[in-house]
Amino acid sequence: MTEQSSECSICVVGAAGRMGQRVIACARTMPVFRIVGAVEAPTSPALGRDAGVHAGCEPLGVTVSSDLAGACAAATVVIDFALAEGFAARVETYARLGKACVLGTTGVDAAGRAAVARAAERVPVVHAPNFSVGVNLLCALTRYAAAILGEAFDVEIVEMHHRQKKDAPSGTAVRLAEMVDAGRGTALHRVFGREGICGTRAAGELAIHAVRGGDVVGDHTVIFAGEGERVELTHKASSRDTFARGALRAALFVARAAPGAYSMSDVLGLADLALPTIARP
Ligand code: NAD
Repeated sequence: MTEQSSECSICVVGAAGRMGQRVIACARTMPVFRIVGAVEAPTSPALGRDAGVHAGCEPLGVTVSSDLAGACAAATVVIDFALAEGFAARVETYARLGKACVLGTTGVDAAGRAAVARAAERVPVVHAPNFSVGVNLLCALTRYAAAILGEAFDVEIVEMHHRQKKDAPSGTAVRLAEMVDAGRGTALHRVFGREGICGTRAAGELAIHAVRGGDVVGDHTVIFAGEGERVELTHKASSRDTFARGALRAALFVARAAPGAYSMSDVLGLADLALPTIARP
């Protein structure tokens, strides 16, 4: 996207995956986007196919390729929903090519996170565990609730995803836990599931439970359990298009942003919401 043009040219990486296909299909319905590249793993059966046809749309005239640098060359923004393996190297390539990045991959290790931090010195980057507007509102509400309810309420997070999901807990559940920490003003001790004689629940503990099965797109519930009452904040995604549309919104944001690391809160303007000042007994 340039000052002269209102068009945003994108390259989709992981183009034949569940998310990549929805990004392509949703972008096709929005005239502001032009899809100029589609990248897949060297072993993908989609290589050589038309990216639009593979995504269930009309032909796009863009062939799915494994040549990352070549496919990105004409793009202003790279939207990457490929898997965590090779993530750091891909991000280094985007930074070297000077491409703004929208990164959706979850389960990224420390090397991947460091690559994002380095890339953000050169290009604008949004790396979000969840691009849904509703989930990002849930994050803001979770921070609020944690601040208001305080340590008198035990917090647990339950997430459920489809049986194909490879990482656990979900990146969104991890983010929600960080929101609880931010609201409480302290880092709670993480517990991932429970088993056996694990003892009574310790104060200052935050457990995350990952449920897997069927075709569930993504459910997250944050439970605040106190004496005599319980608050539950829930978001349920029923279509991957919510993530795809959020990622495309982020693409328009980074296309005009200065280099730096941005969150979906920045994209949606939620970062400006201040925490309430409350007095607890
Ligand atoms: P998927 O397995 O259906 O698709 C991943 C695709 O990436 C596959 O087609 C695979 O061949 C391709 N790929 C693997 N290595 C590659 C490489 N080096 N270069 C190019 N392509 C490569 O998975 P999915 O359900 O589409 O999810 C993809 C990622 O996005 C996961 O990490 C998932 O957790 C994450 N995700 C994020 C959000 C979000 O809002 N941030 C939402 C849904 C999924």
